[in-house]
Amino acid sequence: MARLYFYYASMNAGKSSTLLQADFNYRERGMRTMLWTASLDTRSQSKIRSRIGLEADAHCYTPETDLWSEVTRADPAPDCVLVDEAQFLSREQAWQLARLADEADIPVVCYGLRTDFQGELFPGSAALLGIADKLVELKGVCHCGRKATMNLRVDKAGDAVTTGAQTEIGGNDRYVALCRRHFVEALEA
Ligand SMILES: [Zn+2]
Repeated sequence: MARLYFYYASMNAGKSSTLLQADFNYRERGMRTMLWTASLDTRSQSKIRSRIGLEADAHCYTPETDLWSEVTRADPAPDCVLVDEAQFLSREQAWQLARLADEADIPVVCYGLRTDFQGELFPGSAALLGIADKLVELKGVCHCGRKATMNLRVDKAGDAVTTGAQTEIGGNDRYVALCRRHFVEALEA
């Protein structure tokens, strides 16, 4: 029976490279994969890129995308679905992915941030933490050597940002992955 997986982490813990490695492993065995990533605009195709240089083409989902329909009407059907930026899934889309595992018997592996720059769960992450069959933490590292679990948002000068929208278009250079202690210290500085 297929399962729904959620690999969660802070920024820069290697989520995309882990996804692309899984994609490679499936395809090396002659299996078909279907890759998805979040679109913050209206593009329907994009790339999943990892910091170590790997990349692959991916379908883009928006809040309107019905992932159950899109995957089940693919011909041939994929053997596995891999979803990057899974923190941006809606609760409904997380359940669509669960249905793919349960009713279409297609394994679904999601990769995403656990929390935002204020330490709050993203909607997609909250849903997946609630319903995934298997939760796997990918470990990033704080500058002190402890596990990084928090994502500090910084401005152009590198100072901590404490308010604003949950998602801001901008690069990964606006975030620093920290352990909780150093996250709190940065916010109080
Ligand atoms: Zn630290």
